[in-house]
Amino acid sequence: MIEQYIGLHQKRLEAVVGLLEACNATRVLDLGCGAGRLIKLLLRKPQFKQIVGMDVSYRALEEAARRLKLSRMSDRQRQRISLLQGSLMYRDGRMDGFDAAAIVEVIEHLDPPSLAAFERVVFEGARPEAVIITTPNREYNVKWKTMPGGKFRHPDHRFEWTRTEFQHWSRRVAERYGYEVRFLPVGPEEPDIGAPSQIGVFTR
Ligand code: SAH
Repeated sequence: MIEQYIGLHQKRLEAVVGLLEACNATRVLDLGCGAGRLIKLLLRKPQFKQIVGMDVSYRALEEAARRLKLSRMSDRQRQRISLLQGSLMYRDGRMDGFDAAAIVEVIEHLDPPSLAAFERVVFEGARPEAVIITTPNREYNVKWKTMPGGKFRHPDHRFEWTRTEFQHWSRRVAERYGYEVRFLPVGPEEPDIGAPSQIGVFTR
């Protein structure tokens, strides 16, 4: 179960890297970067010249700095990365002017009423050319008899959406803020319940 999770997260991160590469992004945001797993993969690709990780949790950022070995990095690599403490609930000019933003397994940690603030901060304020959002597909949970988070996959998840719920929210956001959106599954797809994880790719 836990191994499946780890495998899935790695697949998801690789899918996100591929999508960021495909949209020719050079300046990228990782919003809700956590311990910096995506940043680590992005660093291996010279295409990404500026990588900014942001998280509300200072502890997560400290862990990211440690895992990325920031203090031992060459100046050249070090200059490509910034880690910033900030919240997706508040408009923040430091998020402006990027080619793309990745928001990986973050929205389900936000209270549903705060999603409205999140939408404005990302799609109206920061307004990157591309936004890549991933979230669990709740329909897939039937495949997992016991989940670490009980009802949800993680105890800190505030909700988990079905594919239809995610697509409905995404299409509304895209329409409101002038983006187009398409959807991709991550992990093995099963009849009726889909794949364990879903990605929405928003482009302007
Ligand atoms: N993207 C990372 C971490 C996902 S866990 C990964 O895929 O590994 C969710 C992360 O979202 C946590 O690090 C949490 O601190 C962060 N987060 C939750 N609410 C946030 C908010 N309002 N603003 C910014 N980050 C937030």
